[in-house]
Amino acid sequence: MSIETTLATFRERLGEVVDINQATSILHWDQEVFMPPKGAAARGQQLATLSAIAHRYFTSEEMGRLLAELTEAADQLDPDDAKLVAETHHDYERATKLPESFVQEFALVQSAAYEAWANAREEDDFPAFQPHLEKILDLLRRKADYLGYEGSPYNALIEDYERGMTAETLRGIFDVVAERQSALVERVTSAPQPDCSWTEGEWDEDTQWAMTLRVLADMGYDFEAGRQDKSVHPFTTSFGARDVRLTNRVNKSELFSALYGAAHEGGHGLYEQGFLDRDRRTPLADGISLGIHESQSRMWENMIGRSLPFWEHYTPVLRDLHGGKLDGIAPEQFYQAVNRVRPSFIRVEADECTYNLHVILRFEIELDLVEGRIAVADIPDAWNAKVKQYLGLDVPSNTMGCLQDIHWSHGSMGYFPTYALGNLYSAQMFDVILRDLPGLWDDVRAGRFVPLLGWLREHVHQHGRRKLAGELIRDISGRDLTPDAYLAYLESKYAALYGLV
Ligand code: ZN
Repeated sequence: MSIETTLATFRERLGEVVDINQATSILHWDQEVFMPPKGAAARGQQLATLSAIAHRYFTSEEMGRLLAELTEAADQLDPDDAKLVAETHHDYERATKLPESFVQEFALVQSAAYEAWANAREEDDFPAFQPHLEKILDLLRRKADYLGYEGSPYNALIEDYERGMTAETLRGIFDVVAERQSALVERVTSAPQPDCSWTEGEWDEDTQWAMTLRVLADMGYDFEAGRQDKSVHPFTTSFGARDVRLTNRVNKSELFSALYGAAHEGGHGLYEQGFLDRDRRTPLADGISLGIHESQSRMWENMIGRSLPFWEHYTPVLRDLHGGKLDGIAPEQFYQAVNRVRPSFIRVEADECTYNLHVILRFEIELDLVEGRIAVADIPDAWNAKVKQYLGLDVPSNTMGCLQDIHWSHGSMGYFPTYALGNLYSAQMFDVILRDLPGLWDDVRAGRFVPLLGWLREHVHQHGRRKLAGELIRDISGRDLTPDAYLAYLESKYAALYGLV
């Protein structure tokens, strides 16, 4: 077979796997958005069957043979095809290192653990979840052994979410963030607090929804290639760059939560809509890492959406929509209200100033677990001590503490750090954006986001998976990821907002 024919066959086989995975994503999306409750059991089977078929296709002997031939002939391929082969080879190696019996065992333990966790959280009963989490931890250590690693076994687990990152690097970065960010939180919470009582009351849900659509359209989200629907937990999913779905929720007692849900998911959605047409039906049309994905959502949500220029533009828009209810409220008051700092127990409700601290305490605990310094039974004490240390709060129950997140019950360790990495990447990129686009804040003040989106398309979105996160941030900023840009951003923003000296 000529190399061209091999490549064409390879692309066709890969396309089939991508098709099945995207069809699986549609079923997932439907499950969260439309499916009636009694459909759950059948849907679970459909998803399991399709996932198994996709896995079988992807790890087939034919795929192995095609990959081996193309890897051997890599010097005859154009750089784009060579990259596609290398990335697919990486995924193939990882997918074939885990024995099928292990994957099955993991799925069984996982689904029992998920159920146990949901009940334990409801009942505030950590001991009921403990044996399940012990099994998960044991499986994760075995998974790390199958996959192989240097340094910490945690490094093998991070690879699923943030390829190229290591526990050692994270520790160095997060130690600095934890120290400076918790010091900032302490200063902010002891300063006088702004009066935001005007945000209380009821806010029409349709009006809130209309505002989210307006902001998404302004950001450049293409509604001909996507839509926004309602779900319990907001998320973004994609069935190719021409069909990217956002979900959001709206609550009549919260004036801003739907708006910021849209800005956040919209950031993810713009990334997915920005992949190149020629990468269609290949693994190159995908986010580099969860951290880079999160950098896009957090930049739009926080650095843009929680800025004063943003509110200088949207204050009259929101006032108009709410028909007089907000008359007399100035942009500066919106700016204060959306940046209010209130240390709390629940990560997903945390403000920008405290958010990373929630993530870092989870990272420290899961690293101690994976490296065997603490046992599962020690989690509640370790958790509560860290919440006290970083946020100054006494955790009232495990439901409000170590049982709040779904991740560990899913068998995900190494995932949490990507939320904080997203913040750090976004700030390091943003320093460069402000140099490249000196008129950025004037644009935002005028509701013009085209230049920013254009920059992100060029420097981030279009690359798909062609670079690793470390390479991308070096190419953009000229250096490795550090916490400096983010901490400088946070400290100057909140010092001004709270009149700190
Ligand atoms: Zn996100």
